[in-house]
Amino acid sequence: VGEGGEITYKKIQSSQIMGSIQLGIQHAIGGLASKPERDVLMQDFMTVETTNFPHEGSNHTPAHHYSEFKFKTYAPIAFRCFRDLFGIQPDDFLMSMCSAPLRELSNPGASGSIFYLTYDDEFIIKTVQHKEGEFLQMLLPGYYLNLNQNPRTLLPKFFGLYCYQCNSKNVRLVAMNNILPSSVKLHQKYDLKGSTYKRKASKTERQKGSPTYKDLDFMEHHPEGIFLEADTFTALIKTMQRDCRVLESFKIMDYSLLVGIHNLDEAQREKSEARKRTDSGHSDEEGEGEPKKSGLNRTRSINRQRLVAHSTAMESIQAESEPIDEEEDVPPGGIPARNARGERLLLFLGIIDILQSYRLRKKLEHTWKSMIHDGDTVSVHRPSFYAQRFLDFMGKTVFKKIPSSLKHSPSKRK
Ligand code: ATP
Ligand code: CA
Ligand code: CA
Repeated sequence: VGEGGEITYKKIQSSQIMGSIQLGIQHAIGGLASKPERDVLMQDFMTVETTNFPHEGSNHTPAHHYSEFKFKTYAPIAFRCFRDLFGIQPDDFLMSMCSAPLRELSNPGASGSIFYLTYDDEFIIKTVQHKEGEFLQMLLPGYYLNLNQNPRTLLPKFFGLYCYQCNSKNVRLVAMNNILPSSVKLHQKYDLKGSTYKRKASKTERQKGSPTYKDLDFMEHHPEGIFLEADTFTALIKTMQRDCRVLESFKIMDYSLLVGIHNLDEAQREKSEARKRTDSGHSDEEGEGEPKKSGLNRTRSINRQRLVAHSTAMESIQAESEPIDEEEDVPPGGIPARNARGERLLLFLGIIDILQSYRLRKKLEHTWKSMIHDGDTVSVHRPSFYAQRFLDFMGKTVFKKIPSSLKHSPSKRK
């Protein structure tokens, strides 16, 4: 946070970054329209396109009132193909990214990254470090080989890599899928790694309106874990095993499972409390954690359609969702679950933060072979240890198969 309370990143005002990258992305997507669709070639992963954005505008760029900047688009043809893989039409991507201001999210991470959410809740833009950007560039061919074989995954889906340059500062950004719906109240949010060392939300984090808790907090809040139907449990664990195998093959570590929990029974209680308050003459105050719904969010949740294909939590684990009729405001795709008290939950989840294992970047740079047949015991064993511990924690401590005693318990206990 800079002077006057204005959020800054590398001393550049966040609002300026936001506006400028929208101009940059708009130009990049527009420019792609003239390039015919074709198969992706290896060199498409290495391409970088740079555009200048002078104040007064140019033949290709509009005039603007931000500081002059350069905008780099990495691997534009390759990313177009990835967006295509997830059914994202160029016009829709443009609309999501550029037609309305982005919303800045408060980041619980220690890295100092800034997160922007598109107005329609579909995409997140995250600032990444130089090395993370380089790592993604090198990862792309192999990563998308995997996504192509298996688009049903909880792995992050990257839809663009950009660099905004202003006053000789570089701000690198990745566009990816948003995991947590903002139109529904998440009663709890967790960033889980399967480690217990220092894995507790800080005091400042806990004081926030909607804190992101960690492993130790989870074990305290849900000592018995969260319960899933047997089929759902199996599908979820299988997906995570498959995903961790991919991450391990790239020697990636330090990723998290992000879990957002909407408690349907709690939400109903909150609703009736609010009604009581209005009935007794008090004004109906919106809950603090409850974001205002934009018109579009509402339309989408009624249509039960997401722009990014097969990427809700339910679709990611290849399970069938039963519609939840009573809660017309709940977005589609949450995984039904229950807590130990038998309350009905909806889980929104995905794996995040996979780019920071750049210790291994040198290896990747070296040759593809060295990555696949790696003799180095340290770099082979640590990622496999990380993956195993992660999976153990998810499959034993966090998620449990529903015991039959909970299955038929009444959903409302009054
Ligand atoms: P650090 O490196 O310190 O762990 P970071 O800045 O790299 O943090 P992440 O770990 O990627 O940040 O994410 C921080 C938080 O941002 C997450 O806990 C989550 O609340 C939110 N977040 C990140 N990625 C997504 C996503 N794809 N969808 C929704 N929310 C996200
Ligand atoms: Ca990180
Ligand atoms: Ca992280």
